[in-house]
Parts: sequence; structure tokens; C-alpha cells
Amino acid sequence: MFQAAKQASRTRLNGKDDESMHVESSSSSYRLSLYDKPPLFDVTVEEFETSALDRLRILAEIESSAARNRSWDETKQVTITQCGKYLPLNSNSASGIDLQAERRKDQVGHFALRLAFCRSEELRRRFVKAETTLFKIRYETDDSSERRAFLDSKDFHWISVSTEEKNEYKQQLSHFVSAKSEAEFTNEPFYKVKWTTIIDLVEKRRVFLKSGFAYVPAKEQASIIYAAFEERLEAALLATSRAIPLVDEDTRLNPILDNLAQGFTAGVPSDWVGSSETTGEGITADMVDSLAKQHFPLCMRMLHQSLKKDHHMKHFGRLHYGLFLKVLGLSIDEAIAFWRKSFAGGPGADKFDKEYRYNIRHSFGLEGRRMNYPAKNCLQLHSAHEAGCPYRQLENSPENLQSALLSSYSAQGLTLNDLPEIMSQVKKKAYHVACTRVFEITHARYVKKGEGLGDGESVTHPNQYAARSIELEKEVKMETD
Ligand code: SF4
Repeated sequence: MFQAAKQASRTRLNGKDDESMHVESSSSSYRLSLYDKPPLFDVTVEEFETSALDRLRILAEIESSAARNRSWDETKQVTITQCGKYLPLNSNSASGIDLQAERRKDQVGHFALRLAFCRSEELRRRFVKAETTLFKIRYETDDSSERRAFLDSKDFHWISVSTEEKNEYKQQLSHFVSAKSEAEFTNEPFYKVKWTTIIDLVEKRRVFLKSGFAYVPAKEQASIIYAAFEERLEAALLATSRAIPLVDEDTRLNPILDNLAQGFTAGVPSDWVGSSETTGEGITADMVDSLAKQHFPLCMRMLHQSLKKDHHMKHFGRLHYGLFLKVLGLSIDEAIAFWRKSFAGGPGADKFDKEYRYNIRHSFGLEGRRMNYPAKNCLQLHSAHEAGCPYRQLENSPENLQSALLSSYSAQGLTLNDLPEIMSQVKKKAYHVACTRVFEITHARYVKKGEGLGDGESVTHPNQYAARSIELEKEVKMETD
């Protein structure tokens, strides 16, 4: 249904009907943007969704960076790498690049996410924080002449302090600059802004305060800009939240917006389709046990272990684990062989040919509605009541979770000493961050702390975890052969 809607329908970000629309250019003059004008061009539902999802990947990774206490430099590095993959945005000086397309995607993604994140105070706060971080990183890495032109094009409500005024407060102002001579002090620009707009600098006592104004030295100018970005975005989100009933009438957008809003919880939900391209060749039934011991995330490891122990598995376990194995590369014949063998001697062995075999073929799209179902992603497994994410399901039984972690991963290097760090992420409900840390610890030969699955990427899908683990092992084998 949704595919058809994607192809057939086109929507507009301001929710007006087609006839009343004024179409404007999609390009913006600079790489940096305060997003003060919503785009008024046509956007297909597909473009709306993909632009929002790609931007959300970046924002979710920025949130993960905060949860993982990454330093500013590490956060910046991870964000730059992720932006290179999902949201490249070059300066005007870059050649051979479709700058208009990049900026269009940047604008569409930002405004689409505003619609998703304006809906509660908590979402607004998190969105503003992540967007401001992204803006700061872009600001710091921008081409300096283009950044200057961008600043000149905007009104940040600052007043340049005159030489007379500087001299009047010379004694106070000289504490905030490192000018060695009279001439250096005279040449040092200061800006006056209302002190309430730069609370951060006031708290850190990095400005001089007088009559409701803060006197900001040029080296702190960026703080004024970040504060302005934050303040404008907060106000815009509030305004959007008041207009949201208009958008709610559009039934095509609602499911997308709901999904996007959840993306912060577990990273961006995505269907993982790497399968055999990533793992290299098909997987056979006999290989599953050894793959589980080396490459599966905790959710799938626990399902595998319980299947081995009980020779039985309830419906949702079979569904989640079966789809995971299918996407990992198990063919229909190998899947039937695997499940038949696993159930042998168990309480459901006699039901195999009548019932379970049909379910397996169904999940491969060979029975019933003939849909090739994707494997469940982390977000779906976090909210599953059965056979879901163990970090989520065992968060209230920390002892059980810790013993599951140790029994599953001690052969791969996880020790008692690692548990407090993992459990602290679980306590913060950052389940995918805990899982990513486990990946780093158990793959310490290949990735360093903070690198996640590589390039700083966090776990968002069990198949992504397994595929990356298999891939890393292969890369190392190829290097040593
Ligand atoms: Fe599985 Fe995702 Fe939970 Fe990791 S975070 S255990 S991959 S559901």
C-alpha cells in the first residue's frame, strides 16, 4: 500500500494544496543554513522519507556519541564520516558536485524531521540539541570565506562595540582578550548582545556584562551564532507543533512521522538487506551453530541457545530468528533442514511438516500472501513482548542480563570488568549503545573503543551486527593469507 502511495503521491512540506503553492528554487546560497524559510517546492513522499531517514541517521549517531561520552573531536570525526555517507554537504568552492541536490536534501530532511520531532517537549529538546551539534560541526569545518559571507548575510542581532565604548570599559574588557598592546586591543572586535541569549558564556564568565548586554569578544562569536541557531529552532518547533493538526490530516505522512520520531530510541530503523552480498556466500544449516557463537548479537544468540537446549521455540521466537537467518543467507532448503534438525526430539517435532514447514515457506514468500518479509530491526525488537531485545527485556533483572552476557561472550573476551559500562547504558535505556559496546569489546582485534561497527556506526539491526562481524573476520583473513 505504502509503495503505491510513494509512487503516486506527492506532498508539500507546508501542507498547502497544489493550486495555492508557490514554487521556489530548492537551492540555498550557502552550505550553512539557519533553516529560517521552509522549502516551498514539490517533494515526493519517497524523497521526504529518504531525506528524513538519512538525516536521522546522523542525528541518532550524534545522540549515541553523547550517550557514549565521546569527546568533541571524536563526535566530530564520527559525524563527518557519517555525513560523508548519508548527507554530504559541500561548500560553493567544491567542483564537480551537484550542490543543489545536496542542499535540497539537507533542507527537506531538516524540515521533515521538524514535523516528526515537534510533537513533544522531550523530542523537541533532543532534536534541537542534535541539530545544534550538527550545525556546530559544519560551522567549524566550513570554508572560512564562505562562512564569513554566510554570517554577513544574516542578522544575529549583535551590535559592534565602538572604539569609544571599548575604551570606556577597557579595564573590564581587557580580561577577555589576550591583546598585548594598545593597538592590539583597539583592533580586537567586540559584539554586544542581550545577555539572556548567551547564557552559556555568562555562566562561564567569559563575557563582560553591563546594562543587560553581554560584551562578547570576537573569539567567542561562534557562541552567539550557535545560541541564535538554537533559539530560532526552538521557536520554529513550537510554531510547527501548533500547526501540526494540518499535517495530521495527511494520512500518507502520519506513519512516516511516527516511525521517524522513534528513530532516536534505537538508531534509524532500517530493513537490512546486506545478506549474502555481505557474508559472501550462502549459509548452510550446519554452519549456524558456529556462526552464532562468533557473530550473532545477544538477541539472536539467546534464541539460538534456547532452541538448542529446548528443541522447541514459540511463534515469535521462530519468526524473529527465522527471518534473521533468512537475511543472513540461509536458503529455503537449508532453513527447513536447520529447523527440522533443531526440533528433532523436541515437543513440537511431530508438528514440523504440518505447521512449521508452512511457516518457514511463508516467511520466504512461498506461501500465503507471498511477501518476502524483512528481518526485524532493533527498534521492532525493543518493543517486542516476546523474543525481543534482551537488553530491553532484562533491564529489570540485571543479574540475569549480566550472566547472559558473560555466558554468551566471555569466549570472545568480555569480562566482569566490562559489565558496569554496559549496564550503565542499559540503565539509560540506550540498548543499542550497550549492544554496540559489546560488539567493540568482542571485536577488539578489529575495532577500537568508540568505533562501533566501523566509522563510529552504532548497531540498529541484528543482521547488520552479524554481517559486519563476519565481514571483519574475512577482511583480516584476507590480509593474513
Ligand atoms: Fe539485538 Fe538490536 Fe538488541 Fe543488539 S540492540 S541485542 S542487535 S535487538
